[in-house]
Formats: sequence, structure tokens, C-alpha cells
Amino acid sequence: MPQILFAAPDHAEYAPHLHAGLSALGIAPEIHSLDDNPAPESIDYIIYAPSSPLQDFRPFVRAKAVLSLWAGVERIVGNQTLTQPLARMVDPGMTESMVEYVVGHVLRIHLGMDQHLQNPTRIWNNSGPKLARERPVTILGFGALGQAVGRALSALHFPVTGWSNSPKAVSGMTSLHGQDGLAQALAKAEILVTLLPRTKQTENIINAQTLALLPKGAAMINPGRGQLIDDAALLDALDRKHISQAVLDVFRVEPLPKDNPLWDHPNVIVTPHIAAQTRIETAAQVLIENILRGEAGLDFLHLVNRKRGY
Ligand code: NDP
Repeated sequence: MPQILFAAPDHAEYAPHLHAGLSALGIAPEIHSLDDNPAPESIDYIIYAPSSPLQDFRPFVRAKAVLSLWAGVERIVGNQTLTQPLARMVDPGMTESMVEYVVGHVLRIHLGMDQHLQNPTRIWNNSGPKLARERPVTILGFGALGQAVGRALSALHFPVTGWSNSPKAVSGMTSLHGQDGLAQALAKAEILVTLLPRTKQTENIINAQTLALLPKGAAMINPGRGQLIDDAALLDALDRKHISQAVLDVFRVEPLPKDNPLWDHPNVIVTPHIAAQTRIETAAQVLIENILRGEAGLDFLHLVNRKRGY
């Protein structure tokens, strides 16, 4: 009977799904919350969110894995007390949500909808938008989320280029990597989407130099992490109209402080980290799959590479 410590919010919501799913497979788990105060040395799996007060993993000597409910693991990956395997969340529900968020904004930008949503002087401008096939989109970070977004945009005929650490075999899209690849990917991006994890290498990857490589008038959408962007450089590029608009879902400090200039900029849309939340029903299935693997002695899915930091 595996002992599971649920060190994250929504224990009451997840527990019935985990019980039902595992019991149907002949495994009867005991699911403890932190308030239950179970003996750490009895725990087999820790389901985890970085907001949890649990920060010292050393007493969990038997734990086979720490299963994160979050896709981004920057707040746990450097924890020196964590020696257990760490799996991040790749949740089909979260992926669907990210696809909807990015496709929604790409289409709004592409179709020039904003000029019709707010047209106080009633200008009749009937020059329609060009076709999606004429609007190249670049996605920095071509992993679980980036590729799903790419496939959806590609299905709408946007020419999609993805940039990642390693080259990808992706049909109908262009895969680039490395510093030369980054310059190429940026040079053609009429719309730039940043879906990189936060690591030492990706911090401030969007800065004055990289923004200058984008075509004049490019738009950007950042549902990745706030630390990817040098905000001062972005504001400067927006003021000079080199960047036409930015849709920002994530920030260095969240909630974004009320006096942050990003709130005031007419060409910035701030959304409150809602692009893609973990969805309990689908995420529970991913947790169940990983617990089954742990019980069978198989490798866990979605393991984090500590050296790379994601
Ligand atoms: P993945 O790990 O699947 O993908 C990350 C991608 O980034 C990979 O393609 C990886 O390359 C690439 N990458 C990482 N570092 C570099 C680098 N230095 N240079 C070039 N490419 C790099 O992560 P996900 O797609 O699941 O998630 C991406 C991020 O999205 C999360 O880390 C999180 O920050 C953010 N997120 C935001 C949410 C929101 O609501 N706003 C919700 C969920 C996630 P390679 O494939 O070669 O390893």
C-alpha cells in the first residue's frame, strides 16, 4: 500500500481521483496531507507544489519520487536537500489551456482585432488582414507546450519555427537550435512566443540585443516566465514601436505590483498567470501513471534533468 504525501494545495480535490484511479488498478494508496503529519520515513511518493512549506526532503529516506504539480520547476530544482528523482507536470489539460491562450492571442494580433474593438472615431478601414500563411510565428522553447502550440498554429497555416536546445523532428514546422538558430528564428518572427523554462541560460534571453533582431513591428507573447525578459529593454522597444505589442502572463514579481509600468503601457496586455493551470482530472491521471511506474520499478515520466535545470 503506497504511502503518498500530498504537499500541495487541493488535497481534497485530488485525493478522490487518485484513490479511484489507483484502486481500479489494484493499488490502494494512503494519501496524507501535511497536516496529517505522517512519519517522513514511511512516505513513498511526494506530490509537490513549490508553495508548500515542505522544503527539506532529507527525512524522506524511502521516497521513490517527488512528483511536481507544476510544469516549471525552477523553485525546487536547486534544492540541495532533494536527492529523490523529480518529475515535472506535463498535463494534457494544461497543454490544451496553453494552446488556447496562445492561439487566441496570435489570432487577435494577426487579424488586427484591437482596432475594431476600440474605434471611438468610427474609422472605416476596410483593408483586411493578410493570411495566416503569410505571418511567421516563432516559438522559443519547443518542448511539451511549445510543440503543442506550434502544431495548433501550423494547422491554421501559420509558418511556425521552434527554437530549442536540441533539434526536433517536427513535421510541417521548422526546428532551429543554438545561437545561430536563435538569430534566424528571431529574424523572421512577426509574432514571437516565449515558452522557455527559467534557468541561468534563459534569464533575460529577451533583451535589447535579441529584441533588435526581431522585424520592426513584431508582437510578442510571454506565457513562459517573467525572468526571460529584460523588462526595461521591452518597454524601450515598445516605446520606439519596434515591438508593436506584448502579451505578458508571467512576471518577475507576482502579483505584478500595481505601480509596475507594464500595467500602464497602452500596448501591453497583462494577464495574471492564467495561461495554463494544472487541471486536476487530467493531472491526477499523470500522477497515477507515474506512481504505477514507481511501483513496477520503471523509469518515471517527465524526469527533470538537474544539471540543465528543467
Ligand atoms: P519543456 O521542458 O517540455 O520544454 C522546454 C523547452 O525549452 C525545450 O524545448 C528545451 O529544449 C527548451 N530550452 C530550455 N533551455 C533552453 C536554452 N537554454 N536554449 C534553447 N532552448 C532551451 O517545458 P514545457 O513546454 O512543459 O514548459 C515550458 C515552460 O512554460 C515552463 O518551464 C514554465 O516556465 C512555463 N509554463 C507557464 C505556464 C503559465 O500558466 N503561464 C503554465 C505551464 C508552464 P530541449 O527540448 O532541447 O530540451
